[in-house]
Amino acid sequence: MLLVKKFGGTSVADKERIFNVARRCMKDYQAGHKVVMVLSAMGKQTDVLLDMAKDINDSPPKRELDMLLSTGEQVSVALMSMAFASLGIPSVSLNAFQVAMHTTRVYGSARLKRIDTERIHHELDNHKIVIVTGFQGINKYDDVTTLGRGGSDTTAVALAAALHADQCEIFTDVEGVYTADPRIVPKARKLKEITYGEMLDLATLGAGVLHNRSVELAKKYNIPLIVRSSLNESEGTIIKEVTKVEGMLISGVAADRNTTRISVIGLEDRPGVAFKLFDMIAKANVNVDMILQSIGRDGTKDISFTIPEDDTKDCVELIEKKMENLRAHKIDVNEGVAKVSIVGAGMMSAPGVAAKMFECLYNADININMISTSEIRVTVLIREKDTERAVNAIHDAFGLED
Ligand code: ASP
Ligand code: MG
Repeated sequence: MLLVKKFGGTSVADKERIFNVARRCMKDYQAGHKVVMVLSAMGKQTDVLLDMAKDINDSPPKRELDMLLSTGEQVSVALMSMAFASLGIPSVSLNAFQVAMHTTRVYGSARLKRIDTERIHHELDNHKIVIVTGFQGINKYDDVTTLGRGGSDTTAVALAAALHADQCEIFTDVEGVYTADPRIVPKARKLKEITYGEMLDLATLGAGVLHNRSVELAKKYNIPLIVRSSLNESEGTIIKEVTKVEGMLISGVAADRNTTRISVIGLEDRPGVAFKLFDMIAKANVNVDMILQSIGRDGTKDISFTIPEDDTKDCVELIEKKMENLRAHKIDVNEGVAKVSIVGAGMMSAPGVAAKMFECLYNADININMISTSEIRVTVLIREKDTERAVNAIHDAFGLED
């Protein structure tokens, strides 16, 4: 079998963990499997590099930032290969350039377009374990790009697709995907299985286990993903198309505190206003999530929306510059909000799920700011302060604990 195994930063944080991972992969190699590993930078190295950059320049050129951030992964793959050498196992480390992982142009959030597999196959045929840098690629200028924070998951899934791997395992510091973040909800339960759709929503909504684009890719190429711990042998969670119905309405509750609500007040109530506003934001590469438009009154209307908190400054500056052009009266910014979502394929065929969530928030005296829904998801925007209480109350109300 051809196995792709991705290890996150905590799994390769120090010498002991590097050897622990190496020994684990060595077993698969010795059992006759072809092993391709994808690694993140050691521990918090990417944050350390980011701080170094910010220390020199508040807003460093994006090209140079990618040049810097990509070094983290290069360190971990080289060290891993050295560990294999000392264990007497043949291996080779490869960076994005050596593999040839082609991405789009944009620095900082490039997308993988095509992966050349020749070199990897060649090394596998020579009975080597292949260790590839996660998170990075090269663009058409032969410059280094990065895929966005947490992007190594996406590298792994894209590689699994390109290599037609039999399995793609994501090793991490938790034992799998939980019904809620165990740090917030002590009673959270590990899920055996979850669908791509549910996982995609959970990942996007801040579950923090997987990079959301990795789930998108896995769904597109129908690659079953296994999320499991690198520290023990426990089974983990399988993400795949159809899962056994566990009799649950919802699979999990996710919270995302990294969100800002922006309200643009007193916009003219005529066609094209929303287009103008959101086109401008899209061109600045800011992802808009929830959108709410008030009913027009006296020829004006308000539009509220949420964006990632990190983009607040850019987005506000952008709108303020265009206030006149948009004919808006004022803009209101609130960073003290959080999104709380419930996700579950089971709600497609069960009425009353949203009502149950709202009732539970009402019982907890938590006010809802905005609401958005999809077939398998209900999201509310609430005060950030209420996040923990909301998540626990919802987790209880839906009986998600063991
Ligand atoms: N090292 C990168 C990060 O910290 C990529 C990853 O870990 O997936 O975001
Ligand atoms: Mg990660």
